Amino acid sequence: MKLVEVHESLVGILVPKAERIYDAPVFYNPVMALNRDISVLALKVLGSKRVLDALSATGIRGIRYALETSAEEVWLNDINPDAFRLIVENLKLNFSGEPEFREKKVVLRGDKTLVAMNADANRLMNEQFRYFDFVDLDPFGSPMEFLDSALRAVKRRGVLAITATDTGVLCGAYRNACLRKYLAEPIRGELCHEAGLRILTGTLVRYAAKYDLGVEVLLAYYRDHYFRTFLRLRSGAKKADESMKQLGYLYQEPSGRFDYERAFLPSKVKAYGPLWLGPLKSQEFVEELYKLSRDSPLGNAKKTPEFLGLLRDELDIPFHYDTHALTRRHGLEVRKLAGVIEILREKGYKATRTHFSPTALKTDAPFEEVLEALREL
Ligand code: SAM
Repeated sequence: MKLVEVHESLVGILVPKAERIYDAPVFYNPVMALNRDISVLALKVLGSKRVLDALSATGIRGIRYALETSAEEVWLNDINPDAFRLIVENLKLNFSGEPEFREKKVVLRGDKTLVAMNADANRLMNEQFRYFDFVDLDPFGSPMEFLDSALRAVKRRGVLAITATDTGVLCGAYRNACLRKYLAEPIRGELCHEAGLRILTGTLVRYAAKYDLGVEVLLAYYRDHYFRTFLRLRSGAKKADESMKQLGYLYQEPSGRFDYERAFLPSKVKAYGPLWLGPLKSQEFVEELYKLSRDSPLGNAKKTPEFLGLLRDELDIPFHYDTHALTRRHGLEVRKLAGVIEILREKGYKATRTHFSPTALKTDAPFEEVLEALREL
C-alpha cells in the first residue's frame, strides 16, 4: 500500500495513495473533515472520558479525539487488517510511548490510554458492556447493523454519535430498503432530506426505547450527502416513553402544504414515517459548538464555523418550505429567499434559512402566508 501524509487540524496521518477514495485499501475522505470537526467540538463540549471510534479506518477521527479533547481513553477499531496496521502507524506518528502488542490489539499508555483493535465492531461493543461515555459509529451506508451493540457498549447516560450515508435509502430513492432497514415509509421531493434525518432519528429513538432509554437530540443535521446525529441517552422507562411521544407522521399535499401528527399509528392514509418530530438540536449545545469553533484548530476552518452558525440560527420546528419547489408547484416565478423571509418577519412570523436547502425556509407562518409572500415579491 503506497502511503501519503495528510494534515487535518492538529493531526498528521498516513493515508493510502489512490485516484478515487473508494479505490483505496483503507478509507479516507477529506470532505468528512467538517463531520470530524463537529464531532471533536461536540466531545470538547461534553467532556466525555472513555471514547470509542468503532469504525476507524485510518484512525484520523480517534486520533483527533485523543489530541484535541480531554478524553482520557480512546479506542480505535477496524475489522480490516490493513486499516488496523495503519491505525497503529498513525498512533505512533502522533503519540510517544512504547506500544504493547497483543493479538489484534495494541495499547499505548501515556497521558492518555490509546487502544487500537482489529475486531468486528459488534463483537467489541458487546464485550465492552456499558463501558464508553461516547460511542462513534461512522459506517459505509447505514448504521443499523451496529446500533444494538452500540446501545450496549455506551453507558446509560452516555452519548451516541452516528453517521448514515445511505441518504438514497432514507430519502426514498430505494423505498424497500428504507422499509427493511428503518421500518419507515420515506418521502420523495423537497422534504426528503429533513424527513430522512427524522426517520433515522426516529429509528434510533425506537431502538433505544427497547432498553428503557430515552433520547435527547443534541444535534442532528444533513450535509454533503450524509446524516449525522448526536444523541444523549436518558436512563429509565419514563424517559423512553417521553421520547416515543415525539414520534409521528408527515403528510404532504400536491400543493406543497404539509402537516404532521405525533401519534404511534397514523390517523390518515398516505402517511410518511414513523419519524422524529422533536427538536433537532439543543440550542445551548449548538451555541457552544459555534463559539468553540471560532477559536479551535479545525480541519475546515472556513466551512465548519459557517455551518454551525447556520444551524444555530435555524428555527427548530418540523419541516420547511422550499421556494423553488413551491414556485414550480404553483407556476410562479422564482423569488429571492431573503425577500420571502423578510416579508414573513414583517408580518410578525418567525422565519429563517435552513441547512436542508439553500432555497428553503423554516417558518411558523401558515402555508397560505408563505404562498402570499412568494406572490407579493
Ligand atoms: N471513521 C472514519 C473516518 O472518519 O475517516 C471512516 C470510517 S469508514 C466510512 C468505515 C470503516 O468501517 C471501514 O474502514 C471498514 O473497514 C470498517 N468496518 C466495516 N464493517 C466493520 C465491522 N463489522 N467492524 C469493524 N469495522 C468495520
